[in-house]
Parts: sequence; structure tokens; C-alpha cells
Amino acid sequence: MSDWITKVKTPCYVIDERRLRENLEILADVKKRAGCKILLAQKAYSAFATYPLIAKYLDGCTASGLYEARLGYEEMAKPFGRENHIFSPAYRDEEFDEIAKICNHIVFNNARQYEKFKDRAAGASCGIRINPEYSTQEHGIYDPCSEFSRLGTTIANLTELPEGVEGLHFHTLCEQNAEPLCETIVEVTKKFGKFFGRIKWLNMGGGHHITRPDYDRELLIEEIRFTKEQFGFEVYLEPGEAVALNAGYLVTTVLDTFRNGMNIAITDASAACHAPDVLEMPYRPNIRGAGMPNEKQFTYRLGGNTCLAGDIIGDYSFDKALSEGDRLVFEDMAIYSMCKNNTFNGMALPSIYLLRENGELALLKEFGYENFKTRLS
Ligand SMILES: *Cc1c(COP(=O)(O)O)cnc(C)c1O
Repeated sequence: MSDWITKVKTPCYVIDERRLRENLEILADVKKRAGCKILLAQKAYSAFATYPLIAKYLDGCTASGLYEARLGYEEMAKPFGRENHIFSPAYRDEEFDEIAKICNHIVFNNARQYEKFKDRAAGASCGIRINPEYSTQEHGIYDPCSEFSRLGTTIANLTELPEGVEGLHFHTLCEQNAEPLCETIVEVTKKFGKFFGRIKWLNMGGGHHITRPDYDRELLIEEIRFTKEQFGFEVYLEPGEAVALNAGYLVTTVLDTFRNGMNIAITDASAACHAPDVLEMPYRPNIRGAGMPNEKQFTYRLGGNTCLAGDIIGDYSFDKALSEGDRLVFEDMAIYSMCKNNTFNGMALPSIYLLRENGELALLKEFGYENFKTRLS
């Protein structure tokens, strides 16, 4: 077992700097060869201690609201001269002037929002999010093209591109390969191509799993180059997942084991609190050295230390029986984890460590009772 796994206090997230840099190198290569810009979508990953590294490779970041935009401004745009983008389904009047001050690109959900705020957009380049009404995946909760979607403007609602709009934005993919993007671009061109002569940029959103080993990067590069050359605008991608995919872990300690029809283990990591996408997406995170149920000799159902009956991470098999004090390492836990966790049931937030490339382990942050109490009154 690696040294750091026994050294950390659990529960904790460990960011793997080497893996993060490897992802960033892939993204930088795509940027260079495709001639596009790539932004970090902070919604997925906002461990700002690593923004100096990210800023070396990417063009900036994007936000879903004022707070993420502020973080991107303070930790990346301002210190490293990178771009700061934002999209929000509806802007709040009292926040807009601050947003306009710190963002280079502001994407509006429809023409009405644009008309409402355009005079206060300062020097920002304004765009409109479009809904190509072309679903390429089955996860309803992650499909902005589903019926009655509130995200983006359909072509029926965008007969004219308002004066002053410089860009279009679509985000319809989720953990997908390059082909669904190609199909989407065809559909976007069919419906919105009549505006392409008037825009300076097209933002193709996130959901591109670019750093996954089987991702067809050559197809992505070819498609972006072709689109850019054909229409002459700048292309942006704003992946979240792909930036920190497989670049972090959630480390937990087994607190107790017992049997109730099967082996049960209680861990100090909770699906509901520390890896909410396990229940929401839902998905099954891998555990280092463990297998599918019954693949190895000892199968356990792992669950968190909360009162929620459904706080179950999943069933896993191990070579040895688990016992109190054992450490388990959940893989691929840098994304949609740290920025999405909560203190439900009074659970402590996991500490955050950085495993540096030189093997050094740095404790970035610890949380305690105060973090629970200050969110309540
Ligand atoms: C969620 C989101 C992203 C990032 O998506 P990933 O699946 O993490 O790559 C990018 N842009 C917008 C508008 C989003 O909502």
C-alpha cells in the first residue's frame, strides 16, 4: 500500500498532481492542434490550490454563477491573466454589475435575459445559449435537450440574433466521446447556421471526456478545425470532468463490519455526503485493489456512517476479509465531489490533500464542527 494512504487522516480527498498534469497536457495538445480554447468548468472541480498549474495549460475558467466567477477571477483570471466566462440560467439583478466587472464572456439563457442586462455588460463579450434539441444520451437529469428543458433557447424562440450578440453556446453532452459532438454540430449548424456569419465565437460546452483513454481525440481535433475553417469563428470547449478525470481519490477507513444476510462494512466516507453523484448519477466508483461482487473471495456492502438507509456506496469484493481500521481508496474522486459535498447528518467534510509529483503529501485543508455549524442558525 502506498505510503500516503496510511498517512492521511480520513475521510479525505487526495488530489493527484501528476495525474492532473497528465490530463492538462492532453488538453493543451488538443488546444494546440485544434486551434481552439479550453476552459475549466469549475462546477466539476474547483480545487483552486491547483489553479496555478491549470493556468499554465488552459485558457481560463467558466462559472455557473457569481461565486464560481469570483473564484475563477481571484484564483485564475486575475493572477494569471486568463479568461473568465459565465453562464447562468437567469442572472440576479443585484449580482450582475459585479459579474460584468470580473467576466470576459457572459452567456445568457435567452434573448430576453440579454436584452435585460446588455447595457450593464461593460466590456464583456455576450453570447446566447442555444438548445439544439438533439439528445445524445440517456441520463435525463443531464440532458438539456429533453422536452420542456429550461436550458438554452430553441431555434423557434430565436428568430433573430439580437444586435450585439457575439457568440453562441451549447452544452448538451455528458461523459461522451467525440462522435455525439460531431452529430450535435451538424444539428446546431442546420438550425442556427444562419447566424454563424455574425458570431465571433462558438462555445461547445462540456461533457467531452477528452482525457479518457478511449476518447477519439483525432476526430475531435479534425471536427473543430473543420468547423473553425468553415465559419471563421473562435471555438471554446469547457470541460469539467476531463480536466481532473482520475486525478483524485476519496480515502476512507472501515469503522465496523458485521453480517446481515451478507457482509456489511461501515466506512467513514458517506455516499450521500462525500460522493453524492454515487447516488444521484448514479454510478459505482472503483476501489483500488477490489473487484465486482463475488469476483474475489470476500464480498461486502459498503455504506456510510449516516442514518440514511440508502447511503450505500456499493458492493465490492476483496482478497481478504475487511476489518476495522482498513483503508479503502475510491478512485476518480476529484470531480463532482469536493465541490458538491455536504454536512448532512452532521458528517464532517473530508480533508483535502495534494499528492505532489515529488511524492510529498500536503494537507491543503481540514474541516471541523465550525463548518457544520456556520451553515446553520
Ligand atoms: C456542467 C457544465 C460543464 C462541464 O461539464 P462536464 O461534464 O463536467 O465536462 C460545462 N459547461 C456547462 C454550461 C455546464 O453546465
